[in-house]
Amino acid sequence: FWEHFNQEMRERFNEVAYNAWFKNTKPISYDKGTHELKIAVQNPVTKGYWEKNLSSQLIQSAYGYDNLEVMPVFQIEGEQSSERLVTPKPQTESQPQTPEQMPNVFVRNLKLNEKYTFDNFVQGEGNKLAAGAALAVADSPGSFYNPLFIFGGVGLGKTHLMQAVGHQMLAERPGAKVVYIQSETFVNDFINSIKNKTQDQFREKYRTCDLLLVDDIQFFAKKEGIQEEFFHTFETLYNDQKQIVMTSDRLPTEIPDLSERLVSRFTWGLQVEITPPDLETRIAILRKKAEAEKLTIDDSTLDYIASQVDTNIRELEGALVKVQAHATIEHEDINVNLAREALADLKLVQKNRGLQISKIQEVVANYFQTSTYELKGKKRVRQIVVPRQIAMYLARELTDSSLPKIGQEFGGKDHTTVMHAYDKISRELKTDAEVKTAVFDLKQMLDH
Ligand code: ADP
Ligand code: MG
Repeated sequence: FWEHFNQEMRERFNEVAYNAWFKNTKPISYDKGTHELKIAVQNPVTKGYWEKNLSSQLIQSAYGYDNLEVMPVFQIEGEQSSERLVTPKPQTESQPQTPEQMPNVFVRNLKLNEKYTFDNFVQGEGNKLAAGAALAVADSPGSFYNPLFIFGGVGLGKTHLMQAVGHQMLAERPGAKVVYIQSETFVNDFINSIKNKTQDQFREKYRTCDLLLVDDIQFFAKKEGIQEEFFHTFETLYNDQKQIVMTSDRLPTEIPDLSERLVSRFTWGLQVEITPPDLETRIAILRKKAEAEKLTIDDSTLDYIASQVDTNIRELEGALVKVQAHATIEHEDINVNLAREALADLKLVQKNRGLQISKIQEVVANYFQTSTYELKGKKRVRQIVVPRQIAMYLARELTDSSLPKIGQEFGGKDHTTVMHAYDKISRELKTDAEVKTAVFDLKQMLDH
């Protein structure tokens, strides 16, 4: 397994980094009983880096590789004491702990947002299929549309709709066990359960609910161990005819390295997309929010605000808040003129951002004699990967766009891809003269 993990990491890091963290790092012993994996590291810096950044990867990877449970313990060469990364609760075979005695810290059950109900959800062209499916699922959970897979862009109402299913079920069956979880929390809970030896509880929590809501499941990408665990959770619930609802920013087939069997299971039920709202729906949503906030806004102003934001509903809400704040500060009523003033800079920022990223792509493509099409594409050859990562780096450096937004501008890539590119180029700027020159030149061309 160690070799497998090393190989995985060799692909991820550049040579300098790889050598720093792995070259003189060696496993010493593995205890099948306690799962303790003793690892020798050369110095405290390496130890610190492993504990902070690599341990959980190691744990996950081992689990994904061969269901192998490991608890890494690092030992600096030449030193005797082996300090534990996490001290597990003492546990003896003759006295198994009862659930009450077990630490409960790892089960963080995110509460449902009380506003995310069906009543507060405005249906329109872009979301009515998803809303219909969600209603059907809430009405008769576990019978058809299992699992329900809702996908679509940021801020289009996926979380809202998913939680509405939870509220509805609780309204009809107050005793039902509804678990809402962000997929990242599932990942963290799982890692902690291995560290703390509380896997039974972890499984108990996820495998015994009546409704499991897993939000943003695209974060399971490339995480073998998690996928393995989730697969068993899924199987158990599915066989017990418990309802599963998932959301994602993309289709299961588009989630990188999602295992075959999960992809196939995710397609057993219904996959339904939410697309951006049309103007009419945006106006209806604004009207509803304004009512909830007890704001008086006439139709032409609602129309104006809705026409200014066509990206997503979270930004639409943001625009309304802005207008509201402006009115409060200026002691004025809300009308079209006031809304125009309040949103003037918003429009400017939006324009600027869009321009800059495409401009960066153009200049970078030119510089490396490739095309913006390739930069936005998926080709993994070096001649394209490096320019693409540099372009992402510059987009992050020179604009105030968020990571997801940058990803979106690069052909709908995941924000983690952008993050990775940014980190990689930042590192290479220190070690790679070619990269350094290119970034320097490009910044000049972009007038920065
Ligand atoms: P996503 O999970 O797709 O990123 P959210 O569910 O978090 O999006 O929605 C973003 C915001 O927009 C939330 O405050 C949500 O209540 C609101 N929203 C989204 N769709 C609707 C809708 N159809 N009607 C009313 N509010 C909505
Ligand atoms: Mg969401």
